[in-house]
Amino acid sequence: MFINDLLAWFQEVREPYFFREQRNPYRVWVSEVALQQTRIQAALKPLQRFFEAFPDISSLAQATEEEVLYAFRGLGYYSRARNLRKGAIYIKEKHQGELPSDYTSLLSVPSIGPYTAAAISSICFRERRPVCDGNVKRVLARFQMWSDPKSGGKLAEKSTSFLGEIFSQMQAHPGDVNEAIMELGQKICVRSRPLCPVCPIAQNCQAWQNQVVNQYPAASPKPEKIPVRWNMYFIHNSQDKILMQNWKDFYFLKGHYSFPSSLDFLSQKKHLFSWEGKNLEKNLLWQKKIHKKLTPLFVQKHGITKHKIEIYSYFLSPADFPSYFHENDDFLWVSQEEVSSRLVASALSKVWTKYLESSQMNF
Ligand code: SF4
Repeated sequence: MFINDLLAWFQEVREPYFFREQRNPYRVWVSEVALQQTRIQAALKPLQRFFEAFPDISSLAQATEEEVLYAFRGLGYYSRARNLRKGAIYIKEKHQGELPSDYTSLLSVPSIGPYTAAAISSICFRERRPVCDGNVKRVLARFQMWSDPKSGGKLAEKSTSFLGEIFSQMQAHPGDVNEAIMELGQKICVRSRPLCPVCPIAQNCQAWQNQVVNQYPAASPKPEKIPVRWNMYFIHNSQDKILMQNWKDFYFLKGHYSFPSSLDFLSQKKHLFSWEGKNLEKNLLWQKKIHKKLTPLFVQKHGITKHKIEIYSYFLSPADFPSYFHENDDFLWVSQEEVSSRLVASALSKVWTKYLESSQMNF
C-alpha cells in the first residue's frame, strides 16, 4: 500500500519540532492554530516564546487578553490569540484544564473547528480522523486524478472519505499518516513544480504516471463579476466649492469621503443612492429625469473586488440636486485642495483628476 512508502519516507525526513514532542495536546493545539497562517520556520521562535509565557492551559486561561496578544506576536491574526484564550478558559472551567480526548468533545471547545479537532484527536489520541488542509487536497487530487476544483467542498469531501477508507484498513498511527501527507504537500508535492522524480508515492500516483501533473488540482472557476454603473455627481456652489460626502455606511468605501453617487446593479435591478437611502422611489424618479438632460463628462472603467464598474461622471448644479437633500454631518463643501486630501481611494483620485481635466475648471 502506498501509505507504507509514505510513512517510511516520513520517518526519514520528519523534523523533530519541539511542539510535537510527546504529542502534547496543548502544544499541538496552539501550533496547529498558528501554522494555519504562519510558515513553520517563521513560527518556531514565536511558538517557543508563547510556550515559555504560557506552558500549559491553566496559565493561558489565567492570562489577560493583552498578555496573550503580546505573546502571540508573529503567529498570525490576533483574533486567533483571543480565541485560544477563550478556549483555554472554557477547558479550565468545563474539563478541569485538560483538552478533551475525542473529536466530538473537542469541537465543543470555543475556537476549535473540524480541522484542529481532527489534528489533535488523530495526532494525540490516535483517533482515525483525516485532516484535510490545502496540502492534503492537492496531493490527493493529483494522486487520484480528481478533476474537482481546489476551492469548493467536493475535493475536501472526497479527500476525507478516501483517507477515512485508508484509516479503516491500516494499523499505523493516524496522526503519522495525517502529518506525512501534509509534509509531502509541503516538501515534495508543492504547488508549482512538484518534485515527482523523488516522490515516495510516485509509483502509485495517477497524475505522474499519466504525465498530467500540471492539470491537477483543477483551477477554481472564476466567479462572474457583478456589473455596476456608478453615477458620480460633481456639484459646485457659488464659491466654487464642491460637495463631498462621508460614506459612513455606503456600499463601497465605507467611512471614506467621496462624491454624491448612485449605484445601478445592472444584473440585479438593484439601485442604491449615497444620500437619503429611504427615498428610493423618489431618487429613481429624480435620476431618470436628470439623466435625460445631462450628458456624462466621461466614463471610467474600474474594478473593486468582485465588481466590474463603469463610473459615469456628471456635472450638476446645486439646484438640480434633490430638493429633499439637507445638509448634515455627512455632507461638506470643500475647496479643490481639500478634495484631493480627502480622497483616499486611488480610483477616486483618478476620477477627480480626469474630471478636472475634462471640465477645465479653475477653482
Ligand atoms: S508523484 Fe508528483 S504529483 Fe504525484 S504525489 Fe508525488 S509529487 Fe505529487
